[in-house]
Amino acid sequence: MDNSIVLNGMRFFPYLRKEQIDREVERVAREIRLDVEGKNPLFIVVLTGAFMFAADLLRQVGINESQIEFVRYSSYEGGTSTTGKVKQLMGLREDVKGRDLVIIEDIVDTGLTAEKMVADLKSKEPASVKFATLLYKPESSRTGFRPDYAAFVIPPKFILGYGLDLDGKGRNLADIYACED
Ligand code: 5GP
Repeated sequence: MDNSIVLNGMRFFPYLRKEQIDREVERVAREIRLDVEGKNPLFIVVLTGAFMFAADLLRQVGINESQIEFVRYSSYEGGTSTTGKVKQLMGLREDVKGRDLVIIEDIVDTGLTAEKMVADLKSKEPASVKFATLLYKPESSRTGFRPDYAAFVIPPKFILGYGLDLDGKGRNLADIYACED
């Protein structure tokens, strides 16, 4: 038995196990806590892919004075390749001026979403903006964008599970799967 799964006719193999994910999420939580403790940070979670990462991460960061907001951006219109166009679908409600912000994203691929988001937020005059991602694919970068925190640096594979989807499916998986090459 190879534990692979098939979704929309594509085969995915186990790539990162829950235990590895927990370990690295804990490490990132420690790094973030050291940087923002005592600063009343505002965490900005990018829906939908980051929901599971954010839930685990923010419990580990454990700063009761922090606040959590949700925004939604999209660059994919289904399937497994980026459209290159980034649009904001759902914005912020909190005033971010003078705040210490930590963006929580599922994956940095081309970096276009991340770059746009950081620029949008910086224009609102926060005290600081940091970027945390579950997965970072530096070889796919079209922007040179580098996250401040990354749980995993990975090659340019298409990933599924632990919040990440294929056409809306597979977000429920506790492990992270990669598409066969
Ligand atoms: P970027 O703007 O960096 O190219 O892409 C950011 C968004 O593309 C991510 O938030 C995610 O929604 C989607 N994305 C990029 N790579 C993958 C991947 O390997 N798997 C999945 N499911 N989504 C991805």
